Amino acid sequence: MSANLLASDQLSNNGSDINLEADVLVIGGGPAGAWAAYNAAVQAVRVILVDKGYCGSSGATASGGTSVWYVANPDQRETAMASREALGGFLAERSWMERVLDRTHANLYELGNWGYPFPSEQQGQPYYRSLQQGAEYMRLMRKQIKKAGVQILDHSPALELLVDKEGAVAGAKGIRRQAGGRWIVRAKAVVIATGGCAFLSKALGCNVLTGDGYLMAAEAGAQMSGMEFSNAYALTPAFASVTKGAFYRWATFTYEDGTVIEGNTDVFR
Ligand SMILES: Cc1cc2nc3c(=O)[nH]c(=O)nc-3n(C[C@H](O)[C@H](O)[C@H](O)COP(=O)(O)OP(=O)(O)OC[C@H]3O[C@@H](n4cnc5c(N)ncnc54)[C@H](O)[C@@H]3O)c2cc1C
Repeated sequence: MSANLLASDQLSNNGSDINLEADVLVIGGGPAGAWAAYNAAVQAVRVILVDKGYCGSSGATASGGTSVWYVANPDQRETAMASREALGGFLAERSWMERVLDRTHANLYELGNWGYPFPSEQQGQPYYRSLQQGAEYMRLMRKQIKKAGVQILDHSPALELLVDKEGAVAGAKGIRRQAGGRWIVRAKAVVIATGGCAFLSKALGCNVLTGDGYLMAAEAGAQMSGMEFSNAYALTPAFASVTKGAFYRWATFTYEDGTVIEGNTDVFR
């Protein structure tokens, strides 16, 4: 693959090739892409989302679910951030932590309003830390982004980014696996949300996660950051197909000599 100059890249528009324009092109329709598409579309801009599989059932969340870093009480934010900072060797940036907490708070309430079936806490309040019904979550996201006006191209992997004469990313192109032919989208902004690179884990939903977005971004000159922390797989029972980490909440881990490893439940605080 290589990045093409937009000016010299004219796809024919015959057969089942399609040639589209958008304000924002989102590549990847997992939670990151779906939320990006939703937030752009509600600003009344034209948004196209392409997914390699079927947006709503493709990727690591749709087949499993996620636990969420949600801190309900503002007084507990400081403790929560300090705990994460320590876990991360004090390499995290507070401004990003705060942004994540803010967005999570807003998005979870939105999901609740849309009808996501959060489990209940003992006092009957929704338990916002759990999005473990990944299929339900992503089905709902697909419904909402369509409602917001996003055009979805399923089974349409992006193969390369388009760049203009100045080197700025100006869209992408790819293929239509079911309809046949190719697609090209020229866009003022492109969001790459193609997930991780976990296909070798063989975990459910990870077959599509072949690191395409990282490659496309690198080809367009992007600088990567924090990649040295992105190669860890979770523990899993030998017979399981999912390496999700929910069992950390209940399990006790020990060293070979039986000494308990402290702190493994901190990730859920
Ligand atoms: C093995 C594993 C275990 C995990 N365990 C947990 C856990 O216990 N708790 C927790 O909170 N989180 C967990 N996660 C993390 C969570 O699943 C991910 O953070 C989340 O799914 C990431 O969302 P995303 O939208 O970035 O990517 P994904 O949900 O993976 O979605 C990526 C999307 O991009 C599409 N795509 C890929 N390439 C292309 C392309 N070239 N063109 C178009 N579309 C493309 C895919 O089809 C997919 O739909 C785990 C992840 C993995 C891989």
